[in-house]
Amino acid sequence: MSDTTESVTESATPQEAYAAPPASATTVRLREVLAQMPDYKPGKPAAAPAGVTAYKLSSNENPYGPLPSVLAAIDDAATTVNRYPDMAVTALTERLAKALDVPAECIATGTGSVAVLAQIVNAACDAGDEVVFAWRSFEAYPIVTQLAGAKPVMVGLDEQARHRLDAMFAAITDRTRVILVCTPNNPTGPCVHQAELEAFLDKVPDDVIVVVDEAYVEFVRDPEAVRGLDVWRHRPNVVVLRTFSKAYGLAGLRVGYAVAHPPVAAALRKTATPFGVNSVAQVAAIASLDAFDELNERVESLVAERDRVVQALADQGWRLPQSDANFVWFPLGPDSTAFSTACSDAGLTVRQYGDDGVRVTIGEVEANSRLIEVAAAFGPR
Ligand SMILES: *Cc1c(COP(=O)(O)O)cnc(C)c1O
Repeated sequence: MSDTTESVTESATPQEAYAAPPASATTVRLREVLAQMPDYKPGKPAAAPAGVTAYKLSSNENPYGPLPSVLAAIDDAATTVNRYPDMAVTALTERLAKALDVPAECIATGTGSVAVLAQIVNAACDAGDEVVFAWRSFEAYPIVTQLAGAKPVMVGLDEQARHRLDAMFAAITDRTRVILVCTPNNPTGPCVHQAELEAFLDKVPDDVIVVVDEAYVEFVRDPEAVRGLDVWRHRPNVVVLRTFSKAYGLAGLRVGYAVAHPPVAAALRKTATPFGVNSVAQVAAIASLDAFDELNERVESLVAERDRVVQALADQGWRLPQSDANFVWFPLGPDSTAFSTACSDAGLTVRQYGDDGVRVTIGEVEANSRLIEVAAAFGPR
């Protein structure tokens, strides 16, 4: 027995040694839902032909690296990583409460707002319960829903790639526990308007949680757009979801939060991974809130870049949906692959969604200018 083991470990690579797993590996039972679920597809890393600078425009990340003050806080926090983080995330929660003008007990954090979303669905759904959301929307929604044993109910967007709240209302059944409203909608760009959301919420049964996912709220400039916190304040079933991954540029540290009324916030703490939000992330998020003015200058320049790209594309004759986020959506149908290839030939890694369209993140000025050139050469649609 030990002879065989040794000869395998000496002569074979770990992959080869693994090639003959014990027979029992084929009989373990996994949940059937996993086989039906899509894998989460992350944006591809930057890649470019020789001699061309590559830009990653595939994950809606902030192109700016951390501010010096944030980096210093990260550096400092790194010296204590032998200790568990503060499980209650006390300092960050209090800092957020102050910044948002809400009670600290109404804030629940998680390892990215994707994780907080999973906490919400796990807190609200038993097997077979339903989660209603628009489609196409954030690709984590069906995954998180199915992992919780719940059923995704997907309601198509309208021809301007906006939410159809009337159709979402019609999709509510007595199994509906959660409704997700993504505003601005990832990957298509338009925001939901405050008046339409209020009218929708007037009708939705008040035992159904309505999540307003505001991952891109800092980039919104539409004056009619949803103001999630205003809606939340007078509606006990509303939860606002925010993240440090996009405007705040901390995608790699994984921290997001919900603003929810106390019973819901408490449920989200129960469904969180213990010690999930690490100490470096907690400190970096606080330093980012402290440096808001400086970070906001970057947000303003990204918004200006978005507006430059949108205007240039419109001048070329493109008809694209409104974007209130840090990306633009090209609803190209069967031409999506050709456009995605044209982008990658120019060193731009973008995000293709099958035959639906292509999402391109607003990035460095040079990257955005190159996108404008690629779009002109491709020809407006
Ligand atoms: C990016 C994104 C999130 C947040 O992601 P985290 O990095 O997990 O905080 C949430 N919702 C939408 C719609 C997003 O696009």
